[in-house]
Amino acid sequence: MARARKSLVKPRLIAFNRQAGRCFYCEQPMWMNNLDEFASSHRLKPSQAMHLKCTGEHLQAHSEGGKADRTNIVAVCAYCNRLRHQRKEPPTPEDYKALVNRRLSQGKWYGLRL
Ligand SMILES: [Zn+2]
Repeated sequence: MARARKSLVKPRLIAFNRQAGRCFYCEQPMWMNNLDEFASSHRLKPSQAMHLKCTGEHLQAHSEGGKADRTNIVAVCAYCNRLRHQRKEPPTPEDYKALVNRRLSQGKWYGLRL
């Protein structure tokens, strides 16, 4: 393959199905291609539903040799993904998951209570 970086599309879809369409971190439902349908079925504005777009996340960072395969890719919502990478030192997936769930239970996360 000529491309240096493998596409995340397939491992992301596998992860999405394996996780029953829920975010690895916050466990809220996500959407892949059907923003309008997702938004209306959960009574969300499209701007709210955008946060729950499914993205692919490397458990081990690409820069640290993590592969884009099904063992290293999980499906996470756009919100959790963005906030993890906004941190100076991204926490490990386990630590971040614990942090997200702590915040969610305190009502301090983007919890839509879906
Ligand atoms: Zn999430």
